[in-house]
Amino acid sequence: MKTAPGTTHISHGQLFDGTGAAPIPDAALVITDGRITYAGPAASAPAVPPDARRIDAHGGTILPGLVEAHFHATYFNIEKLEDLDIKFPVEYVSLLAGTNAKLALECGYTAARSGGCLFNCDVWLKKAIEEDLIPGPRLVASGREICSAGGLMDWNPDFRKIGMDGLVFCINGVEDARKAVRSLVKDGVEWVKTYPTGDAAWPDQNDHHTLCMTFEEMHAVVQTAHNHKLKVTGHCRATEGIKNALRAGYDSVEHATFIDDEGLELLLKRDVPVVPGLYFEQASIVRGKEFGLSQRVIDGHQETLEGGAASYRKILKAGGRIGMGGDYGFGWNPHGDYAKELSFFVNYVGFSPLETLKCATKTGAEIMGRAHDLGTLEPGKLADVLLVDGDVLKDITLLEDRRNILAVLQGGVVKAGRLVAPSVG
Ligand SMILES: [Zn+2]
Repeated sequence: MKTAPGTTHISHGQLFDGTGAAPIPDAALVITDGRITYAGPAASAPAVPPDARRIDAHGGTILPGLVEAHFHATYFNIEKLEDLDIKFPVEYVSLLAGTNAKLALECGYTAARSGGCLFNCDVWLKKAIEEDLIPGPRLVASGREICSAGGLMDWNPDFRKIGMDGLVFCINGVEDARKAVRSLVKDGVEWVKTYPTGDAAWPDQNDHHTLCMTFEEMHAVVQTAHNHKLKVTGHCRATEGIKNALRAGYDSVEHATFIDDEGLELLLKRDVPVVPGLYFEQASIVRGKEFGLSQRVIDGHQETLEGGAASYRKILKAGGRIGMGGDYGFGWNPHGDYAKELSFFVNYVGFSPLETLKCATKTGAEIMGRAHDLGTLEPGKLADVLLVDGDVLKDITLLEDRRNILAVLQGGVVKAGRLVAPSVG
């Protein structure tokens, strides 16, 4: 991805640097050749060359670009689960993934970790974004997901004779687990996404307390993935599934909904980050009926919401790491609503805006494995920056409305927001 040559000077705003430190009022950010060279009080900022680009933050907030830590580029606001793999061919879905990536960037998300996608669209989407062919967040790809046969993601009945090939590897045993990871190695993914447990979405056979993979399968995934320097995560709702993941050596846990004290201890011991995706539950409860979700499914989402919120409060209090990401791409939880996760953590779970923003920036970059380049506004890091009209620390819901976004920068280049110069012609 190209960076902006020369010097850029951003001023007239408060600065939240992503580290969790209190915001600096009347701050300046200096960018040289795409990287941050100064972030601090405007009064102590170094002199910049007379030809430096100057950006006025309108008295708003200067913060690191947001990181969506559980991004499904190919989920195209589907109305039924089966639409994920059989409604459109992969050619069309990959175009839809491109539009979702552009939208995410326009919403202030300069980076994202994939939570799985159709075939390995995200691997190629990542390449197109890195080569500046299309706009989007810097991506870490996951490709196809891994689930046991009969588990949460194996929903096409056998009589249809279509399997689940595009979306998941349906495995039976450790040999299949290794084989699936080896395919993913060849596909070029960085994270392997698995399904150790079920979900409220499938109350009969694979509800949120059901285990969908054995410990042996999970351990085989981790051993094989780590051998090839890939990381492993998994959809974990059930208490035992979370502990299986932590004991098997998972590098992050998605949801960790019903974590118990023993699970929390395992989590903290290895400092494994959790990505809740909690707003999805709220959206399923509030809008599920509209999309034909049954009352049983909605009740399951309610239980998941309450159990999850209690767990995230415990994890934060105990010093655990939480990333912000959220299963956007369903009709009732569409792309573009990403920042609703942040508001929900402040208004429902009870995190402070400062804590939530740190989760959405610094921790997100750590989960991506890009903390050396992204996630905070500190000298040496890439200038992936968000300028928002207004005080985001006072009112985090400002992030929900794209009209409040003044500028989204990647490597110092203004890519989106109100300050983008209109194109000529
Ligand atoms: Zn997901």
